[in-house]
Amino acid sequence: MMNKNQIKQLDDKTISLIAAGEVVESPASIVKELIENSIDAKATSIVLEIRDGGKSYIRVTDDGFGIDEADVELAFKRHTTSKITSFTDFCNLYTNGFRGEALASIAAVSRVSITTKTKEAFLGTSLIITGGIIEKKEKVGAKDGTTIIIEDLLYNTPARKNFLKSNQAETSKINDIVERLALINNSVKFKYINNNKVMLITASNLTFSESMNNIYNNAYDKSIKELPIEYIGDYGIEGFLGDNSIMSHNRKNQYIFVNKRVVKSKLITSVVEEAYSQFITINRFPIFLINLNVDPALIDVNIHPNKLEVKFSNENKLKDTLSNYIKSKLSESIMIPKSNLSS
Ligand code: ADP
Ligand code: MG
Repeated sequence: MMNKNQIKQLDDKTISLIAAGEVVESPASIVKELIENSIDAKATSIVLEIRDGGKSYIRVTDDGFGIDEADVELAFKRHTTSKITSFTDFCNLYTNGFRGEALASIAAVSRVSITTKTKEAFLGTSLIITGGIIEKKEKVGAKDGTTIIIEDLLYNTPARKNFLKSNQAETSKINDIVERLALINNSVKFKYINNNKVMLITASNLTFSESMNNIYNNAYDKSIKELPIEYIGDYGIEGFLGDNSIMSHNRKNQYIFVNKRVVKSKLITSVVEEAYSQFITINRFPIFLINLNVDPALIDVNIHPNKLEVKFSNENKLKDTLSNYIKSKLSESIMIPKSNLSS
């Protein structure tokens, strides 16, 4: 008799689709993974083009170190990475990637084509993969670097495709992640095109505040103050702080990074907002960028497949250090007393 509660091993295809759900939440999460790969490949120039909120088309071109012909197919298998070889490598991790899951997950739910060439190779390699299945591989003439195109996202998981938001809403999530990646990787030149319209171009080697002004047409010229890196105990803190003439109605312009990794951190958000509280009226939020440099051995970045969360090994010490630092910086800058602010 067949027991209907019998435990069965899932087949590979089902496993891949389940895993892909955690990495590929929306077109913006694909954009994030692809640009992070370009940065990990030491690209100095990255071009992103999207159409229809990324649902029909995402292309990322970089001038990074490319993938060897022998490794191209491997890059699209699950848990294949060139960035770590064992768990102990986390203690010295400075790359964005480490899970070896993104390309496999993206390929499982879309049509991918990649062209890549290393400096050493005479020809590049091009590969077409649909729903995780390799359809074509050939040698081609190509520039050094990698171009990857993702089309027809979620074509094979219609139920999940229905959960995608409008093109406009998906585009605004992409705008947000591109802005964050461009701000923190200020030695890389970015170009971002949406439905044939240039959305963003950055120059390289700007400070964080210059880069912010570059993105926002100098809107913050007088009101953000650069924080050159300062080392305090275990932490190196850098970024910029906005004064209270440019408070926001939301947290959109709060940029938090740990070792240049885009993260969300309730801890850092609340410490910074608390330091600002005496200068800001209720329901307004400060504009700031904080990149916390810390020994990778003191953080855990492997909390979720989307890599947006980090755990700090000594939270109280971090809170105290950051709080004192921000408060002292705010008192040095010219803040308008709260009672004189118009809301
Ligand atoms: P991870 O980034 O966690 O290693 P991915 O699935 O994102 O995993 O990528 C798999 C591997 O493919 C990477 O480890 C890297 O070796 C290679 N790769 C991916 N994108 C690029 C790129 N743009 N340039 C060079 N190598 C890349
Ligand atoms: Mg990656």
